[in-house]
Amino acid sequence: MRIGVLGAGQLGRMLALAGYPLAKTFVFYDMSGNPSAGLGEVIIDRDGQYLDDLISRVDRVTYEFEHLPVDVAERIAKEKPVHPCPRALQVCQNREAEKTLFGELGIPTPEWRIADSAESLQAAAEELGCPVVAKSNTEGYDGKGQAVLRSPEDAAEAWKSIGHPRLIVEKFVEFRREVSIIAVRAEVGELAFYPMAENAHHEGILRYSIAPAPKLEKHVREDAERYIKALLNELNYVGVLTLELFETAEGLVANEMAPRVHNSGHWTIEGAMTSQFENHIRAVSGHPLGSTDARGVSCMINIIAEHGDIERILELPYAHVHLYNKGERPGRKLGHVTVLADSYEELVWRVKNCAQFLPGCPEFKSTLSEQ
Ligand code: AMP
Repeated sequence: MRIGVLGAGQLGRMLALAGYPLAKTFVFYDMSGNPSAGLGEVIIDRDGQYLDDLISRVDRVTYEFEHLPVDVAERIAKEKPVHPCPRALQVCQNREAEKTLFGELGIPTPEWRIADSAESLQAAAEELGCPVVAKSNTEGYDGKGQAVLRSPEDAAEAWKSIGHPRLIVEKFVEFRREVSIIAVRAEVGELAFYPMAENAHHEGILRYSIAPAPKLEKHVREDAERYIKALLNELNYVGVLTLELFETAEGLVANEMAPRVHNSGHWTIEGAMTSQFENHIRAVSGHPLGSTDARGVSCMINIIAEHGDIERILELPYAHVHLYNKGERPGRKLGHVTVLADSYEELVWRVKNCAQFLPGCPEFKSTLSEQ
């Protein structure tokens, strides 16, 4: 079976690496002109003139990023199965649509308003009570196109700095930590949930994911599974879906979803019985799903901006290095390291030992150091 992947970055690369043992082959369709996947065939097509070529060459199509034109996915879906469905893309590209769907499905979100001018942004900040987070309604990712307003008077400056005609304004959530749940749904509707991850961000970029998330209460995990299940079934979804959440004293609050394999699930390559990438390929291809159980405890460390001393990390018997074959650049994800251990205590020690070889890696902070 030949699978078309819209996008040709590191997620596509890891999908292909997981698909080859199942005898899948891949055609990547790149609209950026800068493909980095480095595996399989690549069609570079900035203006859509080779889309028919892609369609004629593949059996099924999936995607590795959500900022692609929905009409491209819809056009393909008329001729070949596209998983996840184009509606999932549509919802994820628009924070208002996403939060509205969450609300309809009973998934808690921060209280939010829409602003389409500096004045309405100020009014929203007054109504919600500061601090609030203003985000561009479309096209934002990794914390870009966002501003925190400490007071309604910050509205004019925030409006100017974001520079987008429509914003979503959210009440700032005083979270204990950020967590994510990754689930997968097969063509026949079978569901599987990965253990949740605890995610630490720095400057808007994910730095560390620990899984299974330590000290996670059973009822919190059950809530997360109920929320993501509602989304999967509502969207008649096939493939891997990620839901990012804040854990607060009152329970979980949803931030956003990603209709794809996710950085907070990279630990599953070595840390779970079946990786998120393999399970996505299985689902998209119409196969049964693999076990999502964890093997011990894991921590994924992102390699951002510069590679650091990879040779030293390769010497560590518990560290698994993944490099994406990309050039160094500020803020760019160049690879990741997954550290495995049998206990959280051992994990903390190993992660710190590994992170010392990664310059620019922020200090390891997690709920594991809380009493
Ligand atoms: P997003 O682009 O929506 O994923 O936001 C990027 C990051 O900003 C999140 O991972 C949080 O750390 C932070 N953030 C976003 N929305 C809120 C919120 N309503 N309250 C507090 N922090 C937030």
